[in-house]
Amino acid sequence: MTDDGQRITDDVGLCRTCRWARIVTNRRGSTFFRCGRAETDARFPRYPPLPVLRCVGYEQRRVDET
Ligand code: SF4
Repeated sequence: MTDDGQRITDDVGLCRTCRWARIVTNRRGSTFFRCGRAETDARFPRYPPLPVLRCVGYEQRRVDET
């Protein structure tokens, strides 16, 4: 769940638990996953097509990270 209570499903894939993922919600309430690695590495799309099933940049988010 996001802070505003929206459900995030496994349709997202790896980005859901990746420390580089940034959750973006637009004015219509749609949620997108932005890849933080895209800011410094051109191999990663800013908004990866979901679900992401394999990714060389994946790093699992630690429990103390938000
Ligand atoms: S590094 Fe890969 S898994 Fe992590 S947010 Fe970017 S695209 Fe998603």
